[in-house]
Amino acid sequence: GAKTLGEKQYQFFEPVMAQAALNDLVLETQLREGLERGEFELYFQPQVDPVQGRLMSAEALLRWRHPTRGLLTPEHFIAVAERHPLMVPLSQWVLRQAALQAQAWHHSGVAAVPIAVNLSRMQFRLDGFADAVREVLAQINVPGPWLQLELTERMLMDDVPAACETLRALRALGLTIAVDDFGTGHTALAHLTQLPLDKLKIDQSFVAGLPHENGAVAITRAIVQMAQGLGLRVGAEGVRRREQWNLLQDWGCHELQGEMVAPPLSVADFEAWARQRQNP
Ligand code: C2E
Ligand code: MG
Ligand code: MG
Ligand code: MG
Repeated sequence: GAKTLGEKQYQFFEPVMAQAALNDLVLETQLREGLERGEFELYFQPQVDPVQGRLMSAEALLRWRHPTRGLLTPEHFIAVAERHPLMVPLSQWVLRQAALQAQAWHHSGVAAVPIAVNLSRMQFRLDGFADAVREVLAQINVPGPWLQLELTERMLMDDVPAACETLRALRALGLTIAVDDFGTGHTALAHLTQLPLDKLKIDQSFVAGLPHENGAVAITRAIVQMAQGLGLRVGAEGVRRREQWNLLQDWGCHELQGEMVAPPLSVADFEAWARQRQNP
């Protein structure tokens, strides 16, 4: 609708303005103030199974309700935030907020599915990260399986033995692990058999090339087959068209995410979406 279109136009013009108007220092100050003032929120995008369209999980996506610039997506601030120690408290806020939402939706029955959380590189490398996760979950009484953690290939490959150890500890708590933007990083394939993983998410750049680009077709199909062979679940993001949905379904992809299902939604919009699905 009009809202979606408005957001798209905003996303298109904003980065140019952002570069001209704001340097990193200003943005850092604003980020700190934003965190203190509670200007951050989570949006949620459904991931559904292609056959029944059943809700399988919801990905938490960070948004910043900036006092003068409107609702900002991560492309406008995440790169700067990632270079600043502030990313740690911001990331921990995301984790806790996602866990709170998982609890609310499990108890209300609106969406009794895991919530997927994007981890930041700094957060994943913190000493005792798995312990910190355990504490957050214990504090608010949320079981591990209610959260899925999304990591990029780079975060896994930074230090494979350390990543293995942290992931084992997280999985021991019941959390599941997904590799985000899969196919764009530099994972040595040998490590895929060693790392304790649950799911690969095919990067949307490959999905965008379906169904007509031969290269995208070959790579997407190969990732689906590889995941199946390794006993991992496989999801696709950025599904925008019916032909993409059909192909991914035929190949045996387990979960689809994208505009064809729903865009990222505010909590209220997500609840309305989920209720409508339950009682069509
Ligand atoms: P991601 O984790 O790969 O998330 C998927 C991104 O693709 C989201 O963008 C989502 O809105 C977008 N997307 C999914 N399907 C479609 C589609 O069909 N069409 C279009 N146009 N877009 C689609 P978003 O929310 O702007 O997030 C961008 C990236 O920012 C994320 O990519 C993730 O890497 C990062 N990010 C988001 N939230 C967090 C967070 O809480 N913490 C951290 N560390 N990073 C985050
Ligand atoms: Mg993600
Ligand atoms: Mg992704
Ligand atoms: Mg991405």
